[in-house]
Formats: sequence, structure tokens, C-alpha cells
Amino acid sequence: MIRVVTLDLFDDKQLAKLNRTLYTAFGVGSEHSGSAEMPPGLGEPVDAEKLLEQVKGIRAYQDDKVLLLTSRKLKERELPSGTAPTPGFARQGKDRSVITTQPHKDLEVGFKPVARQALHQLGHLWELHHCLDPRCSMYPPWTPSFSQGEPIFCTFCREKSEQKIRLAKS
Ligand SMILES: [Zn+2]
Ligand SMILES: [Zn+2]
Repeated sequence: MIRVVTLDLFDDKQLAKLNRTLYTAFGVGSEHSGSAEMPPGLGEPVDAEKLLEQVKGIRAYQDDKVLLLTSRKLKERELPSGTAPTPGFARQGKDRSVITTQPHKDLEVGFKPVARQALHQLGHLWELHHCLDPRCSMYPPWTPSFSQGEPIFCTFCREKSEQKIRLAKS
């Protein structure tokens, strides 16, 4: 199942809405599994890779996928073309990801783009790759149109994620 772990305070109703959206997208249970402490010394903006390595107190079973949720800014990534904002981060096929509600005021105001980012990073945990369908949450997130889209998958990515989830369970 999907375990949403909060690193800052969030509204319960908005978290419930996010879990419903994740459940609809993946067809697998999603719940708020409590909060964790931001590791000391990371400062802000937060280094997403270090955060995933250092965060403690995450209770999850094998095959669970963890989505850390923060309202703090994540450190920009260095790309050959310059720096890029980091709305989320996950390593392909691993068990932990992180997203931020930044640059939105909160989860309510930024619900759609934040939920879309959540689908994208969790999709990577289930080994989905970037997708060419601009409506799909696996579309490259650095594209200008990404944040305008809905938190949904295309048929191909939905089926692929269902396959991966079934494989993980067996
Ligand atoms: Zn990606
Ligand atoms: Zn897709």
C-alpha cells in the first residue's frame, strides 16, 4: 500500500483527499501513516536525496511505497542547462519518494499539481518511466504544461503500474 508520511503539519481533510486520489490512480490502498521528523542539519531548501537517506521513524512493510510530504522547499537540481526547481524526487524502483507543496501556499491551493507530482514520483517507485502523453502524470515534470494537468495516468501507465503492483504482491 501507499503510506503518506508528513514532515510538516497538513490539514486532515486535504490529506484524506490526496489518499483518495492516490487510491483512484493506483487501485491500491493509500493512508496517512503519521509524521516523521525532518532530519536535523538539512536546513532549507532541503536536499531531497539526503532526506530520503536520513529520515527516520518510517513504519512500512515490504512492498509498501512511502510518499513523504513537506511544505518546505526542496533544493534546486543542477542541470547542464541551469538549475531547475524540485517539486518531487524518487529513485526508480525504490521504496521512498518525497514531494513538496511548494511553490503553492498549501495543499488545498495547490492540490492538483501536488497530487499530479505525487502520482509521478510514486509511479517511478513502481518503475514507470516518463510518458509521451501530455495528459499523463508520467509526462516529464519539467515541461511548462505539467502542472496544469489532472492527477491521472494514461491507460498504458495505469496498466503498467497495475502489473508492477500485482508482481510485488505475489
Ligand atoms: Zn520523473
Ligand atoms: Zn502515461
